[in-house]
Amino acid sequence: MAQCSGSTKKGDRCKRDARGESRFCAIHQDQEIRAREPSERGEWDHDAIIKAVIGFAIIGLFFMMRRR
Ligand SMILES: [Zn+2]
Repeated sequence: MAQCSGSTKKGDRCKRDARGESRFCAIHQDQEIRAREPSERGEWDHDAIIKAVIGFAIIGLFFMMRRR
């Protein structure tokens, strides 16, 4: 059994065993959900879309420059 990846209210690493496939114990399973969801959505909403827009803008400028 792996050690729980959660942290206590004091900020220490939880010393309980993780449950099954989870990286967290029963008490800290809510930390797993909170840790996962915002980062996945945040990366897609902000970083990925901004990078895609900048990428398309650069490609568009490159083709416009070449046509002249
Ligand atoms: Zn825990």
